[in-house]
Amino acid sequence: MTSFTTLPNMETGLHERDRAGVQDFVLLENYQSDEAFIENLKKRFKEDLIYTYIGQVLISVNPYKQLPIYSDAHVKAYRNKHFYEMPPHVFAVTDNAFRSLIEENRGQCVLISGESGSGKTEASKKVLQFIAACSGNQTTVEGVKDKLLKSNPVLEAFGNAKTNRNDNSSRFGKYMDIQFDFKGAPVGGNILNYLLEKSRVVAQMGGERNFHIFYQLLAGADETLLQELRLERALDRYSYLTDGLNGSVTSINDAESFKQVQQALSVIDFSKEEQRDIFGIVASILHLGNIGFNEVEGNAKVKSRDLVVTAARLLGVNASELEAALTHRTIDARGDVVTSPLNQELAIYARDALSKAVYDRLFSWLVQRLNISLQAKEVRGGRNNVMGILDIYGFEIFQKNSLEQFCINFCNEKLQQLFIELTLKSEQDEYRREGIEWIPVEYFDNKVICNLIEEKHKGIISILDEECLRPGEPSDKTFLEKLTQKLSLHHHYVCHEKAPAHIKKIMLRDEFRLVHYAGEVTYSVNGFLDKNNDLLFRDLKETLSKAGNGIVRSCFPEKELRSLKRPETAITQFRASLNNLMDILMCKEPSYIRCIKPNDLQTATIFNDELVLHQVKYLGLMENLRVRRAGFAYRRTYDLFLERYKPLSKSTWPNYKGPGGSKAGVQQLVKDLGWDEEKFRVGETKLFIRWPRTLFDTEDAYQA
Ligand code: ATP
Ligand code: MG
Repeated sequence: MTSFTTLPNMETGLHERDRAGVQDFVLLENYQSDEAFIENLKKRFKEDLIYTYIGQVLISVNPYKQLPIYSDAHVKAYRNKHFYEMPPHVFAVTDNAFRSLIEENRGQCVLISGESGSGKTEASKKVLQFIAACSGNQTTVEGVKDKLLKSNPVLEAFGNAKTNRNDNSSRFGKYMDIQFDFKGAPVGGNILNYLLEKSRVVAQMGGERNFHIFYQLLAGADETLLQELRLERALDRYSYLTDGLNGSVTSINDAESFKQVQQALSVIDFSKEEQRDIFGIVASILHLGNIGFNEVEGNAKVKSRDLVVTAARLLGVNASELEAALTHRTIDARGDVVTSPLNQELAIYARDALSKAVYDRLFSWLVQRLNISLQAKEVRGGRNNVMGILDIYGFEIFQKNSLEQFCINFCNEKLQQLFIELTLKSEQDEYRREGIEWIPVEYFDNKVICNLIEEKHKGIISILDEECLRPGEPSDKTFLEKLTQKLSLHHHYVCHEKAPAHIKKIMLRDEFRLVHYAGEVTYSVNGFLDKNNDLLFRDLKETLSKAGNGIVRSCFPEKELRSLKRPETAITQFRASLNNLMDILMCKEPSYIRCIKPNDLQTATIFNDELVLHQVKYLGLMENLRVRRAGFAYRRTYDLFLERYKPLSKSTWPNYKGPGGSKAGVQQLVKDLGWDEEKFRVGETKLFIRWPRTLFDTEDAYQA
């Protein structure tokens, strides 16, 4: 525990406010000022104090270097401590949630948000680390913990990639539930995955890579496995890997990671056969990517049959059938079955659609398979002992924004709704519970934007789906026309025609713009319909449904072919899974971790004020603080308050002996201190202090 002597005593953290700012923003006197807010974060960042609170909300600034603050000693130090007793930390938030789960039997969720590279996934791992370290240690539990921990390297191998923002960027959203027994030992888990960025399988932007697993396999597989998969180590042999950054990344050791993935797969009980099938699929995708086509009289012909044979062998399908499926399309129009050849362009489209679909479904299969392994054998008591951890993509504004960004930003609108409902509500609940009067604060309710996007028949999603399903010749252009026709009067929708001059200048004719709660984003409609239809030609589906590779076969079930119902569009599926997530989160008690990225260079030394301010704004932190401050800046239980400040009055030192316990003791204490009625309120279990100055003065007196 010696390491803690170097940390400031943070019973309140106030006495060291000059050197390292305030550890809770509610204590910031100039709380309406952006500059003061940023200054406080910066001061702390420079001192390696990356965590700061707004009340119970944790702000975390990515340090981009390893800090010695996650050791076992730290876990111990944070275990079973009052939230404010220790310096702000992700462990404090986790401990608080964990105790609430065990002691009050309330389902919990830890919601982690922030932009790419801000540290969400790292934070989620710390939450898991803390839980694993301080909950139960029977062998059965160890097994569950091991599996929970080992699910990360597997999901990251298949779902993460090097992007220009983050060398280990999660390209999917993840919600993980951990189930506990009545003693607080983890007995199982369940993972939900959201919207994998599957377009990355076939193309990457300059400087970016495909999913890690491709590089891991090529670097880490032994010669026998490579032989079996007909692979060569050289990355430039594979067209799916040569688009963006062609090679390895200094911060990543692909070969080493591959070993970890293999080891993790074994811990999670993946059979040898399953492992072979998984790597067979990954390899088959690399081979598929190399299949080229010639065009003879408008008909696509496969250039090199060898590749088709290899890919077919790995997938366990008939090579001739795969070749035909890659170059033909069969349409079954109410029993009228017509097969026609594809031209070169369409064959390439079909090939890429196949690669994307196979990879995407493999990923979902992996999650399902992990879940089988993580399933609780039996949960005794049947209580609501679940803690969820949500690590999901933050708001995105790129140079070019497409359907993917639209989905991600919609997701963030929904989460903001939840934030509003849960935090503002809980703030109000606390005042009510404690019997304190307060005046509700005004805040921007983004419901209007959620409605613009998802309202039945009228929202953007409905309009998009309608256009996708409409007979005739729907196109991205006709979709945009419909949007503008129906939404041009909406305050949060901006079309090119009606945009103010300075916006019009930066908008193209195939774009629309949404005023999100976090900022304005221009979306290009190019590809919206295609991505939403997410078409995989029937011939390919049929071929895969008979595959010898068991995973492929189960990913493309025959019943899907027989179904007469049109498959749901991509966005409708996404909306449904998002609404399901909201239902799950709604009935839990939330803890928030808001992650911030200090610079764009992934370096430990720079704190870019402007960049941070931008994130502070769109995470709604200023508003969060305003709400928190609108009532009472500071609150403490009577016990804690008395324990610290009892030396300040004769009637409470060394102990308060009068009747009425610590509540009466505190009342006596503040009377002795001469506090004005306006400065505080006496709640049921806590003292509420209106202004930070009151507390600073008290703290100064204490220090003196
Ligand atoms: P994305 O949305 O792209 O998935 P993210 O928010 O999940 O991004 P992380 O992958 O968690 O970001 O963090 C990016 C990198 O920043 C990590 O790989 C790590 O190098 C560094 N990092 C983040 N948090 C910490 C931390 N607490 N301590 C040390 N390094 C960190
Ligand atoms: Mg991540």
